[in-house]
Amino acid sequence: MPTSDTGEPTPSWRWPEETWRGHVEAVRAGRRLVPARWPGGARVAVALSFDSDHETIPLRDGETSPGRLAQGEYGARAGAPRILELLARHQVPATFFMPAVSARLHPDEARAYTRDGHELAVHGWIHERNTLLGHDDERELTARALETLTELTGQRPTGIRTPSWDFSDSTLRIMLELGFSYDSSLMADDEPYEVLAKGRPTGLVEIPVDWIRDDAPYFTMDRYGSVRPHSRPRDVREIWVDEFDAAYRAGGVFQLTLHPHVIGHRSRLVALRELLDHIAAHTGVWYATHAQVAEASRAVLRTPPDSAGAHDTRPDHPEATP
Ligand SMILES: [Zn+2]
Repeated sequence: MPTSDTGEPTPSWRWPEETWRGHVEAVRAGRRLVPARWPGGARVAVALSFDSDHETIPLRDGETSPGRLAQGEYGARAGAPRILELLARHQVPATFFMPAVSARLHPDEARAYTRDGHELAVHGWIHERNTLLGHDDERELTARALETLTELTGQRPTGIRTPSWDFSDSTLRIMLELGFSYDSSLMADDEPYEVLAKGRPTGLVEIPVDWIRDDAPYFTMDRYGSVRPHSRPRDVREIWVDEFDAAYRAGGVFQLTLHPHVIGHRSRLVALRELLDHIAAHTGVWYATHAQVAEASRAVLRTPPDSAGAHDTRPDHPEATP
């Protein structure tokens, strides 16, 4: 943040254009990366993700009481197995973003993800908040997280999601330096896009997220806070069904971010099961990991902008929705 002669931060209304424009253009959405058809001729890509944070949320905040840790342990012990079973029953692959500390606490779970054909991807070391870290700490933790998952499973992750989608001034550079091919932490579009750094293409594919398609804001509460957003799971399912239906009509991506310790509870998994039933009633659905979606999106980068851009103007086909 710019500072005045006295060292006080300059208020934003006094910033010159180069300052506010510079902030906006540091990390920006570039070309939209939606192929005319998804692999297999599919009209929609369904990319489910689960952030297996487990105990790392309280640990990150230095909360070490057995009571708080048990709420995270539930995700590993009860939530994750239930989710894996549901995905197997629907034959749906997913991406599991797992903090390295969580993977070290539950190595069999991390290995089960890749063994069952799912993708394991980076989600920080201990669910740290990147905007509170300096560049060197953030880089070291991200590199260590990547190494840890690689050692545990024998496969090097290609994707990353910043913990809490907290994206610092250093994050993009670190992702590029460590060789990630896609990120899933930003919210500039419904569809995948190429990330620009100061207006220049980076080759990094973004698979965007949003709090609307995340279970945490609907179901989690702070015991000592005033916000208690306990939603009815079937109301949440309705929101996600609307998101899927629109993605289907647009020929785009339906992406979801869930947490084993949140959605894994019995009464909430109903929402996911019924959503999967709704999706399964459609033809032309491509279920894919985030890495697979990133790869299909990256192929658009190899085509001239005009031919890929044609997709953006394709009319919706509401009559095709069951
Ligand atoms: Zn997380």
